[in-house]
Amino acid sequence: MIYFLNILRYNVCGDFMNNLILIKYGELTTKKANRNTFTKLLANNVKNILKGENFNIRFDRVRMYIECDNADVIVEKLQKVFGIHSIVICHKVNTNVEDIKAKVLELLNKEKFHTFKINTKRADKSFEIHSMAFNNIIGGHVLKNINCKVDVHNPDIEVKIEIRNEGTFIYTNEIKGIGGYPVGVQGKGMLMLSGGIDSPVAGYLSLKRGVDLECLYFESPPHTSLESKNKVIKLASIINEYSGNIKVNIVPFTKLQEAIYKNVPDSYVITIMRRMMYRIAERLSLKHKCKVIINGESIGQVASQTLTSMSVINSVTNFPVIRPVACMDKIEIIDISKKINTYETSILPYEDCCTIFLPTHPVINPDINKCILYESNFDYETLIDECINNIEVITNLKEEEYSEFL
Ligand code: ATP
Ligand code: MG
Repeated sequence: MIYFLNILRYNVCGDFMNNLILIKYGELTTKKANRNTFTKLLANNVKNILKGENFNIRFDRVRMYIECDNADVIVEKLQKVFGIHSIVICHKVNTNVEDIKAKVLELLNKEKFHTFKINTKRADKSFEIHSMAFNNIIGGHVLKNINCKVDVHNPDIEVKIEIRNEGTFIYTNEIKGIGGYPVGVQGKGMLMLSGGIDSPVAGYLSLKRGVDLECLYFESPPHTSLESKNKVIKLASIINEYSGNIKVNIVPFTKLQEAIYKNVPDSYVITIMRRMMYRIAERLSLKHKCKVIINGESIGQVASQTLTSMSVINSVTNFPVIRPVACMDKIEIIDISKKINTYETSILPYEDCCTIFLPTHPVINPDINKCILYESNFDYETLIDECINNIEVITNLKEEEYSEFL
């Protein structure tokens, strides 16, 4: 085992790596029974997101350790991994007083603080200076060079020094992780992804709770354009930075949508269209082993999102439908979309199948019996089969490949 750990401390070139990144799991640690599954999945997700970087990873039930040289790049990527509560960059130096003094000063010179504390742990007992004495040596050096004071009880900044056999690790502040659960720990959900603001946020919030995603987009060419489709793929690729596994199912919706417009009174077209969307979402969820349907509906936002509308639409399926933004104000949803970088893409003015041919007076309290009656006017089952059989699946989401159309 010791041999194994020692091997891990070298990169492929055989050189020592200079940074050790320590990861704390946060919410995971409260789920005792599932902890092993969680930590293994988290480690896999971390490896996935760091693909192409040079690093070594080890983990136990409470911590994960990543050894690397380019800590800044690695930390930026780790800040998109759900399940990580906090990140600490440890700087490695040779175990000698001068090197340690220099590194501590270098780190503190980058910080703004008035009071500090040095906290040494001496795991390597062959190092002859005891921890307390060493705190004084390094603390004295800091006081000589920086205008500040020692406060051992409530310091602005604490410098931790760990003297180990393989070298000395020095670290200061914790960097906040994004929290949540590791993506995939809850299985998959089918996200109805439009080009709007709400559904990418709904997807992000689901990923945060450990639900990996498959996406579903209804397109109606020629009424909706290639730009609209590419906009959705780009949105999917942005939220895919938190997953790495997302696919987009593009459903050709034109024929079904035209049949709805031909056979259903104006005020009911949106209600019936959304009932069809739910039916298709359920079929696809079963096919791709998704446990729930997820969408960006928000109570009261539009006519199809009154509570009556939602229940009439929802009644075509027994599948659970999760609406992560149901109770948020638009402003709150927009704040999240800006934070996750989907906002600028979402506001591009390309049309969605829900926004073309909008009726002037969509019903806000639809009657389910009327829905059933209007649906009996045409053979929607065959049209739904056709939609399902002609789906285009986009895998390997790469933002840059689609941005040229936008
Ligand atoms: P968003 O809600 O994403 O901002 P929107 O407000 O234009 O877009 P709504 O008309 O409010 O969309 O639709 C509610 C939800 O229905 C969307 O959040 C999305 O989950 C789903 N949806 C709407 N249009 C489509 C579509 N073309 N493809 C897939 N899902 C869709
Ligand atoms: Mg909406």
